[in-house]
Amino acid sequence: MFKWFGLVNFVPYTKVDGFAEHLRDGRIMGSRCRGCGAVTFPPRSDCSACLDGNFEFIEYSGRSTLQTYTRIEAAPTGFENHAPYIVGVVDLEEGGRALAWFGDTVREEDIEIDMDLQLVPRMSEEEEAIRVYYSLERPGTQWVKTLGSA
Ligand SMILES: [Zn+2]
Repeated sequence: MFKWFGLVNFVPYTKVDGFAEHLRDGRIMGSRCRGCGAVTFPPRSDCSACLDGNFEFIEYSGRSTLQTYTRIEAAPTGFENHAPYIVGVVDLEEGGRALAWFGDTVREEDIEIDMDLQLVPRMSEEEEAIRVYYSLERPGTQWVKTLGSA
């Protein structure tokens, strides 16, 4: 169901397509290899450690620390109306990294490398083309587990 990624979906089919549906339902999922136990985010169906294609989804807490960030002034196609905006790369507690927009619980002047952040599932109401995504928020930010269905 990668259609839930809307504009940013360039992949017509993938074995990890449940990821977008979980995100829609308010869960951030990584994957765990059933062969060797390696954990990855974003989820991968084929293990980069042992090449086993047998995986399971595991729910992530969203707890993370900021690795780097940048302010986007010249946005890519489809995101022009959002510029300027800030995106960050975080190390997730369970393993792996995520690239995400900063949400409005974090002020730009408070952003610091290594700060604790919370990755929060989001559903865009005003932007039909984006649908599901996630944002970086202050630790402890709560979110509605079911974002709704459409
Ligand atoms: Zn493996």
